[in-house]
Amino acid sequence: MKIAVLPGDGIGIEIVAEAVKVLNALDLPLQMETALVGGAAYEAHGHPLPDSTLQLAKASDAILFGAVGDWKYDKLDRPLRPEQAILGLRKNLGLFANFRPAICYEQLVDASSLKPELVSGLDILIIRELTGDIYFGQPRGRRIATDGHFPGAEEAFDTMRYSKPEIERIAHVAFQAARKRNKRVTSVDKANVLETFQLWKDVMTEVGLQYPDVALDHMYVDNAAMQLVKAPKRFDVVVTGNMFGDILSDEASMLTGSIGMLPSASLNASNQGLYEPSHGSAPDIAGKGIANPLATILSAAMMLRFSLNQEAAALRVEAAVKKVLDQGLRTGDIYSAGTTRVTTVEMGNAVVRAL
Ligand code: NAD
Repeated sequence: MKIAVLPGDGIGIEIVAEAVKVLNALDLPLQMETALVGGAAYEAHGHPLPDSTLQLAKASDAILFGAVGDWKYDKLDRPLRPEQAILGLRKNLGLFANFRPAICYEQLVDASSLKPELVSGLDILIIRELTGDIYFGQPRGRRIATDGHFPGAEEAFDTMRYSKPEIERIAHVAFQAARKRNKRVTSVDKANVLETFQLWKDVMTEVGLQYPDVALDHMYVDNAAMQLVKAPKRFDVVVTGNMFGDILSDEASMLTGSIGMLPSASLNASNQGLYEPSHGSAPDIAGKGIANPLATILSAAMMLRFSLNQEAAALRVEAAVKKVLDQGLRTGDIYSAGTTRVTTVEMGNAVVRAL
């Protein structure tokens, strides 16, 4: 089982090291190879996604990814910015289905910014389409400003587009995921004002007819944003486009206590996957040893389950995470009175001990 390990920038380096430690403790025949990506790759090779990194990713069963980006690259041409690496990996590997489970662990109910009764027992799955929408619209890549900005520009635009086959395949992913859960899908759109999302809604309805055992409802994205903080437990599977999914899943992360708890899996049609925490490179806390590594460790558990077919090992890792939370260990982002504050490395070590 070959894993490409791409730590990236900022806290990516610190949190991926802990996830690798956990994977190594499992005693599985895992072959891990590390490569540069993002700002780190730009510094060394002049490109955020060098060909050697892309080839390694393509040749692996799964990719364990940290995060990319730093404010210091904001002035670079857009194609050279670290964030392009993750978009390039998604596009090149066809990673169209992004799974972001938002589970509120009972031990972290107090760390959520919402009332305990709203989040206690929360278990929702956000499925975000990842290779279409406005992030991959026409103007992308055609920008030629030398410093990434258009001084004096009077206008800027990005095109939002989806094709029917793109919507169909993410719809099937959502309905099939719902079958293994509570059999409810909420499709989030903006069909009231956007043609792209009228098509989205129509195709979701059409595909839904093939899944009579799954209940489908539609919700506008503005209402969904409100419902997520008003009554989040009303959702089971939420399926939406690239941009709405980006925003709603960050919102959902706060239901779970911290964005440092939210793992993700991005899969292609052959179940090859990229696994990363939902958060970014957090330049504000990078190098301080205080980042929460649990989202990355839980992403590694998803990798074991979805791409490496190691369900038992995935369950072991998830149980170990629950155990360290039971022990009262908390990084700063999930700390509350009466618990024990630990560093990134101490949290990783505790998960290994719990295993
Ligand atoms: P961010 O997710 O990096 O950070 C947002 C806030 O959450 C910060 O205050 C940060 O300290 C905190 N945070 C994030 N992860 C944490 C963790 N594991 N433990 C504790 N606290 C954590 O988002 P941002 O600040 O908007 O972006 C920073 C950089 O990351 C930017 O360059 C952005 O483009 C990039 N980014 C990359 C990805 C990716 O690699 N997939 C995703 C999102 C943002």
